[in-house]
Amino acid sequence: MTHAEGRARAGVLSTPHGDVETPAFMPVGTQGAVKGITHRDLESAGADILLSNTYHLYLRPGDDLIARRGGLHRFIGWTKPILTDSGGYQVFSLAGRRKIAEEGARFQSHLDGSDHLLTPEKAADIQAQLGSDISMVFDECLALPADTSAVRTSMERTVRWACRAREHFLAIRAGRVPGVVVTNPGQAQFGIVQGGTYLDLREESAKRTVEIGFEAYAIGGLSVGEPPETMYDIVEHTTPFLPADRPRYLMGVGTPEDIVQAVARGVDMFDCVLPTRNARNGQLFTRVGRINIKNAQYAEDDGPVDPDCGCYTCRTFSRAYLRHLYAVNEINAATLNTLHNLHFYLDTLRGIRESLKFGRFETFRDEFLQH
Ligand SMILES: [Zn+2]
Repeated sequence: MTHAEGRARAGVLSTPHGDVETPAFMPVGTQGAVKGITHRDLESAGADILLSNTYHLYLRPGDDLIARRGGLHRFIGWTKPILTDSGGYQVFSLAGRRKIAEEGARFQSHLDGSDHLLTPEKAADIQAQLGSDISMVFDECLALPADTSAVRTSMERTVRWACRAREHFLAIRAGRVPGVVVTNPGQAQFGIVQGGTYLDLREESAKRTVEIGFEAYAIGGLSVGEPPETMYDIVEHTTPFLPADRPRYLMGVGTPEDIVQAVARGVDMFDCVLPTRNARNGQLFTRVGRINIKNAQYAEDDGPVDPDCGCYTCRTFSRAYLRHLYAVNEINAATLNTLHNLHFYLDTLRGIRESLKFGRFETFRDEFLQH
């Protein structure tokens, strides 16, 4: 941690592939690429760390194939840090095609229906072969709302799985797991706090996960349809139980407003598909709110998407042109919209970090949330 204001913090996350200034946003590169944009444009937009999906890469092209290519960084040509999720979230989203037991989750591939078993150990193996800089533990992502006893059962299983995942991760690190090709010896492992919307369960999950001992900790199972205020509340009541000297990662969150609100409550890392997915649907983020480029009102609008944005899209093209590209289903529409939305997110995070360095985060937050 380098600067703090209230509960908001600025800091540096060190990885084998370089340092990441926090608070940080991780664009989502599901299949080893961020949809609609090249790594080069991603880097120039200021992305310092990428998230990639274990579930998808495990199924296609397979972690063995990637390990033979020297790991994910070399395979995809990205030299900066990478975080991989554990595959848990994707597996739990396969409603009707998966079965959860103490051992792990049995599921059928969404591609060809083939049977697979993902366990805490297997998820650690796959991520060791991928060689991401940060490996996430395999957790159970319960659908909300759920009653307190269901959430407790699930949270306790996640803690047991976290114990197994940590033990196995340490065995891999010590070279005691034959058959696993470690492509990044400096890999770190993050634990995940669960507990649904119950503050007491969140507290217990945080304490028990910290007790196991990970390089850092994430808050999972949020941004799944609960009201923003509920999410802010849970974050506010969870971060005090996580070590102050380790980064805190709020998984799958969120809107720019959510990110600013979570930073104010002590969170340092974020990932979300919103900027990229919305870009492909024609929804663009601006400093005065979202606009939908599909709308007829932009047909002859010669202004940029966001006059205060310095991205290539805003510096070069009009709303009228972007609306036209979208309307004719031109592939450039996705590329240019994605470039802008990611710039917007990464600029927001830059603004947060700058404001923290100058002790102006409170002002930044107030001004940002006014719009
Ligand atoms: Zn822009």
